[in-house]
Amino acid sequence: MSQIVRTTQQWQGLDRSHHMHPFTDPRDLNKKGTRVITRAEGVYIWDSEGNKILDGMAGLWCVAVGYGRQELIDAANEQLKTLPYYNSFFQTSTPSQIELSHVLSELTPPGLNRFFFTNSGSEANDTVIRLARYYWKLRGQPTKRTFIGRKFGYHGSTVATSSLSGMAPMHDQDHELLPHFAHIVHPHWYTQGGDLSREEFGLQAARELEKKILELGADNVAAFIGEPCQGAGGGIDPPSTYWPEIQRICKKYDVLLVADEVICGFGRTGEWFGSHTYGIEPDFMPMAKGLSSGYLPIGAVAIHDRIFEVLSEGGKMIHHGFTYSGHPAACAVALANIALIKKEGLVERVKSDIAPYFRATLQQMADAHPIVGELRGVGLIGAVQLVSDKANRTVLPPTHEAPIKAREFAIQNNLIMRPAGLQSLVVAPPLVITRTQVDELVDKMKRSLDQTA
Ligand code: PLP
Repeated sequence: MSQIVRTTQQWQGLDRSHHMHPFTDPRDLNKKGTRVITRAEGVYIWDSEGNKILDGMAGLWCVAVGYGRQELIDAANEQLKTLPYYNSFFQTSTPSQIELSHVLSELTPPGLNRFFFTNSGSEANDTVIRLARYYWKLRGQPTKRTFIGRKFGYHGSTVATSSLSGMAPMHDQDHELLPHFAHIVHPHWYTQGGDLSREEFGLQAARELEKKILELGADNVAAFIGEPCQGAGGGIDPPSTYWPEIQRICKKYDVLLVADEVICGFGRTGEWFGSHTYGIEPDFMPMAKGLSSGYLPIGAVAIHDRIFEVLSEGGKMIHHGFTYSGHPAACAVALANIALIKKEGLVERVKSDIAPYFRATLQQMADAHPIVGELRGVGLIGAVQLVSDKANRTVLPPTHEAPIKAREFAIQNNLIMRPAGLQSLVVAPPLVITRTQVDELVDKMKRSLDQTA
């Protein structure tokens, strides 16, 4: 590919004619043309016009170790030379699949010792849906099929995971939800807490799960799913009372608990997983993104021993899998990525050094800025809530264009940040970002918000 050289206009022309983009209004591309990203290094990307842009989103929350890491490139090369492909269907395995499942079992919370590989976070969540329903069938409770998610939750873009997600525009586009999917409120104190303290509101929001289970009948509910800190929904970090109460309710009604770690996993929250940060004890833990830092596509589902035991005692083949489940090169890259995170102490660095600095710097900007109501998130997830009235906690209406405008100004200022749910803007940079680069990120974010105000 690198030998093909075209002008930006030529790329844009071909893109306009032949390429359909995910999560994009095609009319925008007709107006402006796509931005062509041609290379990357560290926390920066470059476009075809030579602009050097600070990637405040680590790609799509995934490039944990930063761009251009030779260890990951070498791991892919070596694996592709030795064994470019083999699968794990029908009683075969490859060394990198086996090693990766072993290494992951040492990082995940107790009991999560079994790993099913996928190519993406969406496939990981689809896998959870299928396995959880099969689990209940084997337990003699086939009516336990419904998954309860949350508003503004994001779990993927497949037919099933778009219903599992709580994103209204996705449901709208599909006409309706698939059967056996339901949603409860997102734990966002700023817009819904009223006069309650954060902790009181955390309990109240969690108890919506109990109400929903009773409404549907516990005999019909397979699982509850939530991101430890909601990412695309707007960096919604729940009050400290929330997850313990969710955990209690799931146990009480025999409902499985799924922690979607696709964004939170691999250090972003300052622990290996968001479940560690919030003390969640899940039955299933889907993961992707930071697993390979996005260098090659891979996802996985961590499965609790007690679930796997039932699945494996079904006495039948498990009819589920993807040709590229556990692709050897993707597994090799994931292993190199995890080794690098360990070698450089990135999880500890997030927790005790760079995330506290990142949060303090963003907080200072958020406190002073007239259109920012609050800073949300955890670790290296930072979301600022756009408001029309800071004193009264009045957020912008859902159709307001300010977040899109702010993103456009940010690009002009050579920063990638993105609009997220609840009219907020989010940044989630690579874990290797330095303090000087955090300053640059927050300066550029502030300038873009000033231009938007
Ligand atoms: N789950 C969460 C929490 C996500 O943020 C995403 C993607 O952003 C997904 C699942 C879907 O992952 P993918 O885009 O790899 O299919």
